[in-house]
Amino acid sequence: MIRPMRPVVIAANWKMHTTPADAGELARMIAARTAEPDVTRVICPPFVCLAAVRDALAGMVPPVAVGAQNVHHELAGAFTGEVSAAMLRGLAEWVIVGHSERRREASETDELINRKVRRAQDALLHVILCVGEQLDERAAGQAETVVRRQVAGCLAGIDARSSLDRDAGWADEPSLTIAYEPVWAIGTGRNATGIDAAAMADVIRGALGDLGFADRGEAIPVLYGGSVTSANIGEFLAEPAIDGALVGGASLKPDEMAGIVARAALTARARRAGDPTPDAAA
Ligand code: PEP
Repeated sequence: MIRPMRPVVIAANWKMHTTPADAGELARMIAARTAEPDVTRVICPPFVCLAAVRDALAGMVPPVAVGAQNVHHELAGAFTGEVSAAMLRGLAEWVIVGHSERRREASETDELINRKVRRAQDALLHVILCVGEQLDERAAGQAETVVRRQVAGCLAGIDARSSLDRDAGWADEPSLTIAYEPVWAIGTGRNATGIDAAAMADVIRGALGDLGFADRGEAIPVLYGGSVTSANIGEFLAEPAIDGALVGGASLKPDEMAGIVARAALTARARRAGDPTPDAAA
């Protein structure tokens, strides 16, 4: 069977860092240090920095996409302080949904995240959906169950075909990307192993298959996130099931991003050259 060649994606989650005064310059520096045409680069600054980053990256070749870190689940209304998908038009092409820090700080549930995914896809935003287990869940042998449940809850009823349908208005990238982010690895300096991340990517694709995604979601990129650095990115990208990374702390450091994207470019070029993967050989 011919399998789709998934893009290699490096997405930067700046969290609550940078200001409109300095975000553009940081984005420009990172873009200049990571100019790899084969890697899909996405920078997700805080909402108030989106315009500055968009302007700083305008016209860059190869292009760098701009993403938001969250989106509201309603179209409009009395939701003080929130930002709708329509408001992101012209500011962001991607959006992170369901990050564990929002599940923790804003009590976001899988059901709510499901509504956010729909709103984002209706607005033709590329979604990075975050899933991942807590440390006690992993210790109890529940990691796979938790992640399978999150994928099912966050994506239930979402038209699998629309995630792949470029005729609907999607550009070259898939409309849905999933980031496996074990919560215990986020911002802790303690990363998962490449083997464990790949096993969880397989669990995620199994869950996508159960939801009716074509070919077990083979076209959907799965990223790893959790204390990724230039020193450990290779361990994840050595796994054919892993298609890149969602990077937090290290994404604010141009040197780190240069190393991470340079390693990602090796994987992207190998894929283009048709390097076999275990899946493709199956
Ligand atoms: C993240 O914010 O999604 C993340 C993975 O953070 P860090 O790389 O700092 O662990």
